[in-house]
Amino acid sequence: KPIIQIRNLMKSYKLGGETIHALNNVSIEIESGDFLAIIGPSGSGKSTLMNMIGCLDRPQSGTYLLDGKDIGKMNDNQLAVIRNQKIGFIFQNFNLLTKLSALENVELPLLYAGIPTKERRERSIESLDKVGLKERARNLPTQLSGGQQQRVAIARALAGNPSILLADEPTGALDSKTSQEILFLMKELNELGHTIILITHDLMIAKQANRMVSIQDGQLQENGGELFGNF
Ligand code: ADP
Ligand code: ADP
Repeated sequence: KPIIQIRNLMKSYKLGGETIHALNNVSIEIESGDFLAIIGPSGSGKSTLMNMIGCLDRPQSGTYLLDGKDIGKMNDNQLAVIRNQKIGFIFQNFNLLTKLSALENVELPLLYAGIPTKERRERSIESLDKVGLKERARNLPTQLSGGQQQRVAIARALAGNPSILLADEPTGALDSKTSQEILFLMKELNELGHTIILITHDLMIAKQANRMVSIQDGQLQENGGELFGNF
């Protein structure tokens, strides 16, 4: 059974007298273990879809089942619990706390989740090891390169043992060589069984996923559609 089942999802914004359909009848199923890229230009609905998949928002109409749970029926507290359990977020700008070490950054969500100190530390070190940064555990973000900071952010996402890694333009702040290294890491993690959803406007990045869908004016098309027909 797919880990994500989205059916006829709608999300619109009212802007002045105009209605913008940010998501227009979106349907998609994502299997556990997939590495999916969602590609689209600015304003196509990527952030809106990411907020939906990441359980930061609920559908206005249509259904979203995550691990069989109907996200549209959850209240805000239930949504927060699901989000913390199921989703590991990775952002363009890493979102690391600058006064905390790499290890402390990775530990922070586990601290909030009430995981005891010893287990917290063990899981965080294990996560840093997975991204090849164990020996940098004591470094502050400012002592790390952009690519290393993104690895720490990926370790933080992994530490919570989420069902899905949801990456929003994870290479957007990195040069092309470093971007490629981050992509290799994500491929490795996918091969270890992690489900990855990667949102990007960069075709060279999106092409490296196992499956690509494009979003254009709030509508999804498999294989990149006519916009990216050479996939
Ligand atoms: P992307 O992430 O691909 O740039 P978004 O999901 O941010 O696209 O936006 C999709 C569409 O919805 C755009 O036309 C955008 O202007 C509009 N939109 C997004 N958020 C809001 C909002 N809070 N109010 C009004 N319109 C919005
Ligand atoms: P953008 O793509 O517009 O630069 P971000 O990638 O920083 O925005 O964030 C995307 C969405 O995720 C936003 O709605 C933001 O509020 C939310 N968000 C940011 N940080 C976290 C977090 N640590 N946990 C959960 N949601 C977050």
